[in-house]
Amino acid sequence: MAYEKTWAANPKLNKTELKKLEKDGLKIFDEIPRYAKEGFAAIPQEDWDYFKWAGLYLQRPKEAGYFMMRVCVPSGILNNEQLETLAGIARDYGRGLFDITTRQAVQFHWLQIEQIPDIFQRLKRVGLSTAGACGDITRNIVGNPLAGIDPDELFDTTHIVREVYEFFQHNEDFSNLPRKYKMSISANVYNAANAEIHCVSFIPAKKVIDGQEVLGFHVKVGGGLSSAPHLAQLLDIFVEQGRVKEVAIAITTIFRDYGYREKRHRSRLKFLVADWGVEKFKEKLLEYTGPLPSKGETVQKGWNAGYFYGVHRQKQEGLNYIGFNVPVGRLSADEVFEIARITRQYGNGEVRFCNSQNLVIPNVPDSYVESVLHEKIFERITVRPKTFIGYSVSCTGIEFCNLALVETKERMRHVAEYLDSRLQLDVPVRIHMVGCPNSCGQRQIGDIGLQGIKMKTKDKGMVEAFEIYVGGTLQNDGKFNEKLKGKIPAEQIEEVLVLLFSYFQETKLPGETFLDY
Ligand code: SF4
Repeated sequence: MAYEKTWAANPKLNKTELKKLEKDGLKIFDEIPRYAKEGFAAIPQEDWDYFKWAGLYLQRPKEAGYFMMRVCVPSGILNNEQLETLAGIARDYGRGLFDITTRQAVQFHWLQIEQIPDIFQRLKRVGLSTAGACGDITRNIVGNPLAGIDPDELFDTTHIVREVYEFFQHNEDFSNLPRKYKMSISANVYNAANAEIHCVSFIPAKKVIDGQEVLGFHVKVGGGLSSAPHLAQLLDIFVEQGRVKEVAIAITTIFRDYGYREKRHRSRLKFLVADWGVEKFKEKLLEYTGPLPSKGETVQKGWNAGYFYGVHRQKQEGLNYIGFNVPVGRLSADEVFEIARITRQYGNGEVRFCNSQNLVIPNVPDSYVESVLHEKIFERITVRPKTFIGYSVSCTGIEFCNLALVETKERMRHVAEYLDSRLQLDVPVRIHMVGCPNSCGQRQIGDIGLQGIKMKTKDKGMVEAFEIYVGGTLQNDGKFNEKLKGKIPAEQIEEVLVLLFSYFQETKLPGETFLDY
């Protein structure tokens, strides 16, 4: 270790912290080949948590020995070789399941320890990794999925995301953070990276320095969801493009050395920022970076929530990007192979994943657009989804997740399809379903948030149920949705939503959105 663990002497460190002092999480990468030879039974139970640093969680039930794996996809951008490699892993080891997450990463399920070394080798060959995909470490860096092709970006952020990702990826100086740590870097003027819900976000800005207009970033810190959600707050600094890595290192160092390590539920950066305030946070940051200019002008025109359906012109003349709906983010391995073939045939082989769990195929010449749209696979993964399935997001839920209280993914798909069969709204309504308060499905920012709970009933005992939240958005710096009174048994959720949206439909003005209603 190149740094001093200033917190190590704290007598109130929680159990997880004490374990992390015994062994760094990234060391699990050295141990996995041995466990793969010896089998799941050889892994001591107290080592299970370390697997998170390698992007691996034990899926439900843990004792069965199957892993969920998350692979980092910085900014959601994959080349053709990477896409095919991921499809191959899903086909060969993951029972064909391929999930796109709300942070642009990819998740596999049903993996066994014996298979992990081969999977790691396949990923390494194409420049992908699972390091930092889970655990108390810098997670996948969320970015503009349209970086480099986007008429609505201030500048291309591809190389900046890559530089920051490569610095933190598998870096033992920053692999023992107080909790998970989420960063976004985007210059899209419609907030494509959901800046306000990250621990730290670089957002597009400009400033006149020495008589010249400079394009760079403002920085927001202290956002995050879970049971105590916070919206990130703006620091009074302007960061030139060449200094992003330095500022990201400084903020991460502050979190590592000053973040709370006593109570796990108070360890996210958001609690430190809330207690210090942005002024004190900025002062500490400048101790690391030296002087930074004060803020300039934020260049933000609204929020697109990561939706890009349809055919759109790129910055590059004659080229288009096409946005498709992936219902609740789940594809089959065969579908991914087919998408990879199409992107090779008609585009440059790339695909981009969005935090809405959808995908974009970039770099399609004008002359090929119609051919792409007529491919059979795009009857299901469509460019013109119906109102509800097109704007539904779901976390993993009880199918695989140990923390889940209810089933989510398949249920969200069924609910959305049912609503689409019953109602036709003239505006989309974004529904986010989660299986517990941890909010992997970003419940707090949905027009409608559905959060799973258990509910006691007279006749059926404990049943799956949902709390309903309304009015979440990241427009105008953001507002989290608010809980309606009561809970709804899961079997009644479809009918309750039909009633709610029927009322909305009957009483709204034409074109009025759920947010404005
Ligand atoms: Fe699991 Fe809860 Fe995250 Fe859903 S929100 S995947 S139930 S931890």
